[in-house]
Amino acid sequence: MNFNTILEEILIKRSQQRKKTSPLNYKERLFVLTKSMLTYYEGRAEKKYRKGFIDVSKIKCVEVVKNDDGVIPCQNKYPFQVVHDANTLYIFAPSAQSRDQWVKKLKEEIKNNNNIMIKYHPKFWADGSYQCCRQTEKLAPGCEKYNLFESSIRKVLPPAPETKKRRPPPPIPPEEEDNSEEIVVAMYDFQATEAHDLRLERGQEYIILEKNDVHWWRARDKYGWYCRNMNRSKAELLLRSEDKEGGFMVRDSSQPGMYTVSLYTKFGGEGSSGFRHYHIKETTTSPKKYYLAEKHAFGSIPEIIEYHRHNAAGLVTRLRYPVSAKEKKAPTTAGFSYEKWEINPSELTFMRELGSGLFGVVRLGKWRAQYKVAIKAIREGAMCEEDFIEEAKVMMKLTHPKLVQLYGVCTQQKPIYIVTEFMERGCLLNFLRQRQGHFNRDVLLSMCQDVCEGMEYLERNSFIHRDLAARNCLVNEAGVVKVSDFGMARYVLDDQYTSSSGAKFPVKWCPPEVFNYSRFSSKSDVWSFGVLMWEVFTEGRMPFEKNTNYEVVTMVTRGHRLYRPKLASKYVYEVMLRCWQEKPEGRPSFEDLLRTIDELVECEETFGR
Ligand code: ADP
Repeated sequence: MNFNTILEEILIKRSQQRKKTSPLNYKERLFVLTKSMLTYYEGRAEKKYRKGFIDVSKIKCVEVVKNDDGVIPCQNKYPFQVVHDANTLYIFAPSAQSRDQWVKKLKEEIKNNNNIMIKYHPKFWADGSYQCCRQTEKLAPGCEKYNLFESSIRKVLPPAPETKKRRPPPPIPPEEEDNSEEIVVAMYDFQATEAHDLRLERGQEYIILEKNDVHWWRARDKYGWYCRNMNRSKAELLLRSEDKEGGFMVRDSSQPGMYTVSLYTKFGGEGSSGFRHYHIKETTTSPKKYYLAEKHAFGSIPEIIEYHRHNAAGLVTRLRYPVSAKEKKAPTTAGFSYEKWEINPSELTFMRELGSGLFGVVRLGKWRAQYKVAIKAIREGAMCEEDFIEEAKVMMKLTHPKLVQLYGVCTQQKPIYIVTEFMERGCLLNFLRQRQGHFNRDVLLSMCQDVCEGMEYLERNSFIHRDLAARNCLVNEAGVVKVSDFGMARYVLDDQYTSSSGAKFPVKWCPPEVFNYSRFSSKSDVWSFGVLMWEVFTEGRMPFEKNTNYEVVTMVTRGHRLYRPKLASKYVYEVMLRCWQEKPEGRPSFEDLLRTIDELVECEETFGR
């Protein structure tokens, strides 16, 4: 940090969305505030590239963005805005404290500016309008008074449970004074798998207690036990299917305005399992109190639940395990649980064979009879297992919607298993070949966009794929393409594959620095990505079909490149050619490529052919 620096932190910046239809993206940037400049860089302090800057004297407004109704689509949940010239920069801080600090310091720095706004927009500009006042002109005057000397940071209110109109929500405990806690909203349901996991219900809010890992945080729920629209028989079904001692939920009673706690015990009376349904009763005192056991009355339902989670106090058992209805399939998470990469093989069941590759046979399976997974049984002698097992811990932390998620490994047995996300439609190459003539160009381009997004994430995390090709991408039920087998080439024990003169070495996907000197980098992945684009736009043809590996080396060295596929527009082919620049430094990064492809997706739809 230099001595002029007032603040420095990695925050997330939202793209400017210059065109109404261009998709927004969120990028991590190192933000540095000095007296004169707010600058943001790509990369970390040691190796950073300036991406943009704002002259502090031009800033007209710095304020928190109110977002009480929307989901924030990036990891940092605390947005603020910096309005300067004709632009608004939306920046996302990782915590309330961080955001407070940025807003406060920036306000201090701009207080003598002579262009401070009188009114501002408290909410985001999104989808062509301001979410606060719905004005559709980006330069529309603000709709709320701007106060430079007072923060608009409001207390985060606990969520109002969505109950039926006339039914009052369960009373909530008085607000705690501490407003620094971080509250997040679950975008998907997530089933708890380990005792310490917290089940997430889509749309519910959770309080972050500790960010112990990039992928796993310690959190507590607010109403994880509250089930709307649940009658007695449904509740019993659900509790029985979970079959957890002390499984419970709070649901609406058949009596309007009342709530019932449904509780399941495996050992209820004469050894048989059973359900109990307890009405939550109200006292006649003022203020009203609520109870399950009269002696233990509280001002709110959450307090009653909290009490009985620790004390049976008259109930058949403690409220041990909150159960709620499952709705939508959750996206993949990094591993099944926090810091757990070893999977117990007895929890896997095997189903049909999906295919086989260099390492062995891949089968569809289920983990804990619930989650579909792909299980790769590693053939003896095919893999340098020790090295892989060590690396698997790192690979499990790579999580992105366009990467096939590694869930874990079974290493205490032979053969060892690698357990990954199951991709219903199998490998991209076959997918293309089997449906030749049925793709339109938009679909092909969006496949490349998927892969590019996954690769941009790997690049950002300094992870080199080394064998990017259509055969190493998979397609899921929704047609989303994801990158698979990243980094795995390093653990292959077959000389024919690892040596650049070997028959199985993927020469046709490699740039000169790789087939000559085995010099792998994100830029060599970029070359392979160009070949993958070519595979996609030829609907699965073999590159340099008629040539041997040896011939390809000579041809590529002399500057020969793959031809333009019929389905590729001139712009799409230009992207491929940029990936095949001889010198690695002449090639774009995946970040650049993604920007170009995003723009192409937008244009090709209207006039790009
Ligand atoms: P290897 O890494 O041993 O070469 P692959 O990963 O290429 O093996 O897998 C071989 C085949 O198994 C693939 O072509 C694909 O058809 C199938 N397969 C592999 N992983 C999955 C998965 N996660 N979901 C669905 N099918 C898969």
